[in-house]
This record gives sequence, C-alpha cells and structure tokens, in this order.
Amino acid sequence: MDNELKKQKQREASQRYYRNHIESERERCKLKNQKTKQKRNQQGIEYRTKIAKVLGLTYTQFTYQLQLLKKKILQRDEFCVYCGGKAEIVHHELERKDYPELTLTENNMVSSCEECHKLQHEVCLV
Ligand SMILES: [Zn+2]
Ligand SMILES: [Zn+2]
Repeated sequence: MDNELKKQKQREASQRYYRNHIESERERCKLKNQKTKQKRNQQGIEYRTKIAKVLGLTYTQFTYQLQLLKKKILQRDEFCVYCGGKAEIVHHELERKDYPELTLTENNMVSSCEECHKLQHEVCLV
C-alpha cells in the first residue's frame, strides 16, 4: 500500500515536471519563432526599400505598384508557366537581387505554382 502511494506520488511528480517543462519549451519556441519572423520582416522591408530607391519610388509606392502588377501577371498567365498548374506566385525571371531595376517590368515576371517556384530558385542557386 505504501509502495503504491509512493509510485503514485512519483508519477504525479514526473507528470508535473513534464507539464512545466513542455510549457517552458513551447514558450521558448514561440519566442524564437517571433524573433525570426521579426528579423525576416525587417530584412524584407530593408530589401524592398532598397529596390524602391533604385526605381526612384517611395516604399509605399513601390509595394503598391508591385501588388497591382502581381495581380495583373497572375491574370495574364492564368496558370503556372512551368507546369500549367495553379499559379500562386509571381516569379522574376531575372532575380530581384541581381536586377532590382527589373522588379516592376512585366516581361520579367511570370506566374508560377509554389513547387515550380522553389525549383526555379534552386536552379538559380546552383
Ligand atoms: Zn508549376
Ligand atoms: Zn521567384
């Protein structure tokens, strides 16, 4: 009987330990994710500000025009130009980081599905 009680108490203690641990672990992950997200957003803003400057636009003008243009390109192509699948992303054939001045050039923009888009960038990276 005493032994059972002891075991029960141990089980409870380890469950408590697990619960505390898992919660602090989750909290840690959440914070880490937030930080990476913030960092990524900041990088995105800096990057887009740089491109906007190249094009002689303000950040707001640039993001607005890019958004409009993306919609237009998706309507123009209708499907992924690589596989004919569902177009979700507008890809810059000459990459933005190498040709920022072509970021708002329609001829440089094509509709792509997510999978093909990944491939495009992998190809570019090799
Ligand atoms: Zn595709
Ligand atoms: Zn792309």
